[in-house]
Amino acid sequence: MVVVLEKNIPDKKLENIVRHLEDFGFAVHKSTGVQQIILGAIGVKPDFDTRKVKILDGVAEVYRITEPFKLASRTFKNDDTIIKVKDISFGGNDVVVMAGPCSVESEKQIFTIAEIVAKAGAKILRGGAFKPRTSPYSFQGLGEEGLKLLRKAADEYSLLVITEVMEIGQIPLIEQYTDIFQIGARNMQNFPLLIEMGRASKPVMLKRGLAATVEDWLMSAEYILSNGNMNVMLCERGIRTFETYTRNTFDLSAIPVVQKRSHLPVIADPSHATGLRDKVIPMARAAIAAGANGLMVEVHNDPDNALSDGPQALIPEQFTELMSQARKIAEVIGKRII
Ligand code: PEP
Ligand code: MN
Repeated sequence: MVVVLEKNIPDKKLENIVRHLEDFGFAVHKSTGVQQIILGAIGVKPDFDTRKVKILDGVAEVYRITEPFKLASRTFKNDDTIIKVKDISFGGNDVVVMAGPCSVESEKQIFTIAEIVAKAGAKILRGGAFKPRTSPYSFQGLGEEGLKLLRKAADEYSLLVITEVMEIGQIPLIEQYTDIFQIGARNMQNFPLLIEMGRASKPVMLKRGLAATVEDWLMSAEYILSNGNMNVMLCERGIRTFETYTRNTFDLSAIPVVQKRSHLPVIADPSHATGLRDKVIPMARAAIAAGANGLMVEVHNDPDNALSDGPQALIPEQFTELMSQARKIAEVIGKRII
C-alpha cells in the first residue's frame, strides 16, 4: 500500500501516521521528496480496509498495490484457466456459444429451439427453470419440470446444459440435470449461495451484478474459489447506467480488464446487456473481438409470445447469421468458435 501524505506535513502528524501503520502490522518505508513524503506500507492483508489509513489526519491518498482477491488473480495463477465440461473447453483459444430461450416454457418450445441452436453450431443449451423476475406477477419458470425438459432436449441434440440456481435449497435438484450452474446478476452477492457453489461438483458461471464493479465481481468469484470450486467463469451481461436506449449498458471493456487481472474465462451476454434483438448481433461481434471466451445468447422460435425476454431473443435466422459472423471475427483474432 502506498500512502501519499499532504504537502509540508508537520513532523507530529507524520509520526502519528507512521505509528498507526506500525500498529496495523505494516513495515513502513519512508521516501522524502522536495515537498511531499510517500510512505510504503508493506504486508497488506487481503482483508485490510484501506479507509483506516485514508481517514488519518495528514493523509492525501492511499493506493492499494496488492489486489483484495487472491485465487482469482493472475498473481496467484498466471496461466488462463481452462474449464473442461465433458468435451467442451472454456478458456484459451476456443470460443463457446451457449444459446437457448430465456425460460423453458414447454416441451415443444425447448425441443424446437434446441434443434435450431444445435444446427447452427451452439454447444450448450441455456434455459431458465427457476427465474429471478423483477415482478412477482411475471412467469417464474417451470421448476423441476423445466429442468427435465431442458436436459431431455439437450441430450436429444448432443448439447450440454446451463441453467440458473437461485437459492441453496435448489442445488441438489439442479445438480442432477445441469452441466454448469448459472448464478444470475441479482444473486452475484448472495454470499451463502456462492459458498455452497464453492462446494458444488460442477462449474459455475457467475454473472456480473447490475451495479457491481469489476472488483466486486471478482471478490464474489473469490467466494466460490476459496470454498474449493476452481471451475468458475465470469459473465458480463451489462450494468445499470443513466442510459435508457438499451436495457443495460454493455461494459465491453470489462472483458480485457478482467482478463488482465484474472485467469478465469469471461463470457459475454449481449442479450441481457442490450435487451433489444437488433443490437445483439453487433454486440456479440464486438464481444468476440474484445476477447470473450464465449457467448451466451437468447434465442426463441416465437419471441412475440415468449413468456420472458422475448424482445431480446434472436429469431432462428438471426442466430444462424450470428454464428456465421462470429466464426469470421474469431478467426481474425486467432480464435475459433467450437
Ligand atoms: C438470464 O440469463 O435469463 C438472466 C436472468 O440473466 P441475468 O441474471 O443476467 O439478468
Ligand atoms: Mn433472460
